[in-house]
Amino acid sequence: MKIGTPKEIAEGEARVAMTPASARDLQKLGFTCCIESGAGDKAGFSDAAYEEAGVEIVKTAAALWKSADIIAKVRQPSETELKRLTKAKTLISFFNPGGNEEGLELAKSKGATVIAMEMVPRISRAQKMDALSSMANIAGYRAVMEAGNNFDRFFTGQITAAGKVPPAKVLVVGAGVAGLAAIGTSTSLGAVTYAFDVRPEVAEQVESMGAEFVYLDFEEELQDGAASGGYAAVSSPEFREAQLAKFRELAPEMDIVITTALIPNREAPKLWLADMVASMKRGSVIVDLAAERGGNVEGTVKDEKIVTENGVTIVGYTDFPSRMAAQSSTLYATNIRHMMTDLTPEKDGQVVHNMDDDVIRGSTVTHAGEITFPPPPPKIQ
Ligand code: NAD
Repeated sequence: MKIGTPKEIAEGEARVAMTPASARDLQKLGFTCCIESGAGDKAGFSDAAYEEAGVEIVKTAAALWKSADIIAKVRQPSETELKRLTKAKTLISFFNPGGNEEGLELAKSKGATVIAMEMVPRISRAQKMDALSSMANIAGYRAVMEAGNNFDRFFTGQITAAGKVPPAKVLVVGAGVAGLAAIGTSTSLGAVTYAFDVRPEVAEQVESMGAEFVYLDFEEELQDGAASGGYAAVSSPEFREAQLAKFRELAPEMDIVITTALIPNREAPKLWLADMVASMKRGSVIVDLAAERGGNVEGTVKDEKIVTENGVTIVGYTDFPSRMAAQSSTLYATNIRHMMTDLTPEKDGQVVHNMDDDVIRGSTVTHAGEITFPPPPPKIQ
């Protein structure tokens, strides 16, 4: 069978779902590979590099979608792209199945199989295919880089002949995958780093990375009640008040605040309010990684960088992985290659779509003329 990757058509998207290295691995699984001409350009992978890796270069998107049996891409497909699917084709991509009913219906009407990368179950066996985590890791790292780029002091403290420089103070709100990556990057640059999460079980991880966990003056059982199943739940009003009081106390001291707090299937909670922004020092920087889902910060403008009246920069970009397209394409293409390994048990270039496999079942959102989203809960944890 043939795997093909088209050029991403979403504006500003620089990632690509196949790299020359992943194509070599896919060929070892028995597949032939093709790519739309120029698809890897923005991520630093030239047509020549693909050709050298044995990948056929196809001139147009239409020809690519026609000739490939399996299409691997990054962003949620457009209507035009979905119309190119047929019963015999499998699409592997981010798909936003929870908010993309029209896309599901269209893929179903075509009889195609769609694997949605955000649906890969978060169980140990599937970590190698977990594109949400690989992209969140990049976003967390890049958030710190972006903060540094807008901050006109050092992260680390220094004693120099020209004077003593205190270290920057960084607060990371939300210590999931992106938050932990931001914490690791910030501590490695030498900033004094603080972190907060509603899930107290992450305190140990935060501390093992050299940051200080911010505890609230709150009864622990109630704090525990705020989290369930590894994900956060909505906080009680009392807990929220205690959290906001703590943030109000910290705001004037922090140089950089990176917010990553999310609750599944909801708008991001507003945690850094306008009065906290107003009490921060001139020159401070906030990076709101939750901007896509409404933002954690009052004043965030999605996809923009603004400077408030009191001189605080708020970054609301939502394309952090795309800003590091070589790195994110490499990791995403590897996630896809692992998915293909599981779909090709005989390594003979033939996909076996085993719906009894938790990972394949969990991430398949249309198959054999049916919408198969949402999936049943996985059997293995
Ligand atoms: P996420 O992106 O859903 O949320 C980011 C963080 O925000 C979470 O840590 C959450 O607790 C926190 N948060 C929510 N509301 C908050 C508030 N009011 N104040 C402060 N923080 C708040 O999280 P994620 O990165 O997707 O991780 C969610 C869980 O999934 C974690 O337990 C993680 O360890 C787990 N996970 C497991 C696997 C795996 O087993 N393969 C892979 C990735 C993540």
